[in-house]
Amino acid sequence: MEPVAFFSQPLASPEPRSRALGTGSDSRAGPREPERSRSGAEPLLDPTRLIRDPQSGRTYYRGRLLGKGGFARCYEATDTGSGHIYAVKVIPQSRVAKPHQREKILQEIALHRSLHHRHIVHFSHHFEDEGNIYIFLEHCSRKSLAHIWKARHTLLEPEVRYYLRQVIAALCYLHQRGVLHRDLKLGNFFITENMELKLGDFGLAARLEPQDQRKKTICGTPNYLAPEVLLRQGHGPESDVWSLGCVMYTLLCGNPPFETADLKETYRCIKQVRYTLPPYLSSAARHLLATILRPVPQDRPSLEEILQHEFFTKGYTPAQLPPCSCTTVPDLTPPSPAESFFTKVTKSLFGRKKNKSKIAPQEQDNLSRLVSDLVLTSICPLSSTKEPRQAQEEADVAPSLAETAPEEGSPRSLAALGSSSEGSEEYLTAATVMESTLCALRNCLAFMPPARQNPAPLATPEHLLWVSKWVDYSNKYGFGYQLSSRRVAVLFNEGAHMALSSNRKTVHYNPTNTKHFSFPVDAVPQQLQGQLGVLRYFASYMDHNLMKGGDLPSVDETEGPSPLLLQWVKTDQALLLLFSDGTVQVNFYVDHTKLILSGWEPLLITFVARDRRTCTYQAPHLQRLGCSQELRLRLRYVLHLLRQRSGT
Ligand code: ADP
Repeated sequence: MEPVAFFSQPLASPEPRSRALGTGSDSRAGPREPERSRSGAEPLLDPTRLIRDPQSGRTYYRGRLLGKGGFARCYEATDTGSGHIYAVKVIPQSRVAKPHQREKILQEIALHRSLHHRHIVHFSHHFEDEGNIYIFLEHCSRKSLAHIWKARHTLLEPEVRYYLRQVIAALCYLHQRGVLHRDLKLGNFFITENMELKLGDFGLAARLEPQDQRKKTICGTPNYLAPEVLLRQGHGPESDVWSLGCVMYTLLCGNPPFETADLKETYRCIKQVRYTLPPYLSSAARHLLATILRPVPQDRPSLEEILQHEFFTKGYTPAQLPPCSCTTVPDLTPPSPAESFFTKVTKSLFGRKKNKSKIAPQEQDNLSRLVSDLVLTSICPLSSTKEPRQAQEEADVAPSLAETAPEEGSPRSLAALGSSSEGSEEYLTAATVMESTLCALRNCLAFMPPARQNPAPLATPEHLLWVSKWVDYSNKYGFGYQLSSRRVAVLFNEGAHMALSSNRKTVHYNPTNTKHFSFPVDAVPQQLQGQLGVLRYFASYMDHNLMKGGDLPSVDETEGPSPLLLQWVKTDQALLLLFSDGTVQVNFYVDHTKLILSGWEPLLITFVARDRRTCTYQAPHLQRLGCSQELRLRLRYVLHLLRQRSGT
């Protein structure tokens, strides 16, 4: 299936973190003049440092060296037109002269550019000239966890949870796409300006192969190699989990679990799984490490199980780490239970109630409804929340289409009737969407300063898709909704998804999140006619009985499939919708306000207020400038709901 996106984002961030060219000093100005000498006459730009893209003509100024790798040197590079700063890997053509070397780099590029995740270093673009290949990456200004580890040696358990959650989110995404990283280590966990972790360096990454076809090459960082890799039994997802355990150990204990003065001895220790767990670790940390560092790969916990371990569920994870934690032990006193989210909100409301002139009675009423405990009322049936692999296996084995002979109704036989595609691209699970949004919201809210008003909004993205109408008929069929593009769709109780395009000419059918079939509306196979009937019923009900919610403009439907609704959750206050492109929409019943959280870097927050006014903000703006109580409370509610759903 084609990658789907609600709207396209410009490659260069609209708000570059500018740095005066050639100086390395921070400046928050926009595109700038080249630095001038004291006399003000001569620019200090060194022309030998200009990199020119021969195709686009764009030029970049090569700044300071960030580090050296196996093939490449990595520099800071500034787009001289936009001022956007990148990390550019410069690989001399002489280093990739042999066909297999070039092939390797091209493979790394092809893989990395296909990855889009909040916790994976963003691949921007690449080009080459006679001398070098240039790869432009998201610039991670706080270097890597290796640098933090060098300065700190050991981290606190809450810090380790903070970083590992982000590594696990990235790793879940990779593994779900059938990619193994194979070189998880501190130096490959890059840290951005606002302390977010990004997994990088896909030089050793490989496609996950069936057990018997796995490559038996030994690769990775010696200290973090899993026993099965050393024993040349091949590298599986469990071997990445092992390395993750080694990373956790190193961060908590200050040195890798199997480190010795002699590499051969290290390998012996790994093969025998010989390491010690220091007594100062919490019992939860010791237990988790012991379960991850098990000799037999299949005995190790999955990434999901790791997140469910009490080390994560019972221990405090800070919403954000202060930048000073890169070099010194931070003060991470967790909020006391009495200061939980709801008591804090209640307190602030009571505080404000004393001064009634400042808050409209209607607002008071609406806000206080949000403070009541979070009560889940219904949630879409379990089948639709399955991970793609599991759901796909089931769809292959037991087609979910009722009223037809199994073979006829199977996805394979459907493929013969309509156009089909396997969705190996761009698919996110509900768990990944929740985890990523949770992380961005945590960051946004953690140190948000108090403010009375919202900052100036951005233009609402032109192609923002959002749910304008919905019907919950899950006691019989499923959940129906209409997008702002006028596409109507149903997420059926058993997990299948069917949509009717906005011009009502094409039917899109997804038996699972990763399989897609499309048919002209008058050529839908017999075995899908039942579902099509239900879809039409929903469409007509929404047309005749429901008003459009909100004032966002309708958008024209782009060709091809739209994002799929992955999961819906209803509480007593709000409806939460999670989509396959990472968008999260929350409708608050009481006053019809809505939040639409979309986009990856940065997260965009669109708020449809009570008076239907619609404003879009970048999460980093809100984090820096604060926002109104009305918006803050709703963001906190979503954070709380996501936290509860993801069990954190
Ligand atoms: P290696 O895989 O051998 O570490 P790389 O070429 O990936 O080599 O990176 C070399 C060094 O460049 C890294 O160790 C790191 O210090 C720096 N670096 C790489 N990517 C980035 C990035 N996106 N942002 C900031 N620094 C980076």
